[in-house]
Amino acid sequence: MTETVVVLGAGYAGAGAIKSLEDHLDGSADVDVVWVSDRDYHLVLHESHRVIRNPDVERNVRLPVEAIKSPSTRFIEGGVAGLDPDSREISLDDGSTVNYDYVLVALGSRTAYYGIPGLEEFSLTLKSLEDSLAIHEGVKAAAREATDEDPARIVVGGAGLSGIQTAGEIAEFRDSRHAPIEIHLVEALEEVFPGNDPELQGALRKRLLDRDIHISTADPITEADESTIYFDDGNPLDYDVFVWTGGITGRECLTDAAFENNHNRVNTDATFRTSDDRVFAIGDSAIIDLGENPAPPTAQAAWQAAEVAGKNLARTVRGQPLETWDYESKGTLVSVGGTAVAHGIPGIPIGTFGGPIAKLLKKGVAARWIADMTTVRRAARAWPNM
Ligand SMILES: Cc1cc2nc3c(=O)[nH]c(=O)nc-3n(C[C@H](O)[C@H](O)[C@H](O)COP(=O)(O)OP(=O)(O)OC[C@H]3O[C@@H](n4cnc5c(N)ncnc54)[C@H](O)[C@@H]3O)c2cc1C
Repeated sequence: MTETVVVLGAGYAGAGAIKSLEDHLDGSADVDVVWVSDRDYHLVLHESHRVIRNPDVERNVRLPVEAIKSPSTRFIEGGVAGLDPDSREISLDDGSTVNYDYVLVALGSRTAYYGIPGLEEFSLTLKSLEDSLAIHEGVKAAAREATDEDPARIVVGGAGLSGIQTAGEIAEFRDSRHAPIEIHLVEALEEVFPGNDPELQGALRKRLLDRDIHISTADPITEADESTIYFDDGNPLDYDVFVWTGGITGRECLTDAAFENNHNRVNTDATFRTSDDRVFAIGDSAIIDLGENPAPPTAQAAWQAAEVAGKNLARTVRGQPLETWDYESKGTLVSVGGTAVAHGIPGIPIGTFGGPIAKLLKKGVAARWIADMTTVRRAARAWPNM
């Protein structure tokens, strides 16, 4: 009997799992692989902030699914609207349905607003290519209206990976065009890159300040309106462009799913199985129970999990035991415009460092991902822009 395995999402988790699943099935004729996503390309999201500086980078971070999947995998472009584990049916935005025997949920996350008044209505986000292009256009338009005496004020809310890297790219845009722009990075918690190593936080703070980015920490946003952001403590800040990157939550389409979830992020065990035996989840969509060593919602973790998830989907179809996954941090690489900071890289005795080696490592990770998903040629073309 032919079994149908469906993978939802074309991010690191989904694209990586498709590659791994195809490898482990090795052309088995008794399994149909169906890949569903709302875009017909994989976005290299962890480098998508480069598009803010230069929209031409779009061609480097947009990898068509046809260049990733094997011809036998069927791709359906559509937005997932719901998943019914009883009927084993996925419903799509256009009203059509897709049936499955096993499904991997890899739909990523969406921006969280924590109920702060005005935040969703007045801010731009960074979760898609359209978002990066909208920020580019917003910054460009604001700079056009501004003068050296009255510069455009761009505020980035949230100093995590996306906020820091977004602020860095806006600084790169400003400096390469000599544009009258003032950049503010605002964070509710005590330090930039909250929850991370203090040496790394200090190195990032230094580079952000070196790029003339104003930093405010330990002061949560309490409200935003069409022109001003209000804080718990500090003075209100008028803005021309407001980008909010301060948190993630699960996808709305998983709200009614009948398996355990936490704010629509699906709970799984270390084999990625949910409370339903036929439903698996990885990446930002999932909270994977790894005990003392939880995986962060990063591309790095999704990439690692995807390799094991593809193998486990192939094993489950064959009735074989599943592998458990352990997250292994390969270090942290964060760009601030054209520079980068590296931390905790295995095999390198210095804890935190910048300079050309950090930049090379950051480029190398993106290039390796693009080469693994598509071709070395495509990775080489992307190299200058990473
Ligand atoms: C600007 C920025 C910089 C970052 N930098 C880093 C970094 O340096 N290092 C790092 O490790 N991580 C970084 N991250 C985090 C990283 O990008 C995410 O953790 C990672 O993308 C998660 O992978 P994923 O596959 O779970 O989700 P995603 O990559 O978000 O993929 C989700 C997929 O599901 C599709 N989809 C979503 N909803 C639906 C729907 N309803 N129906 C159908 N398809 C749908 C999407 O189109 C997409 O293909 C960064 C994130 C951002 C935004």
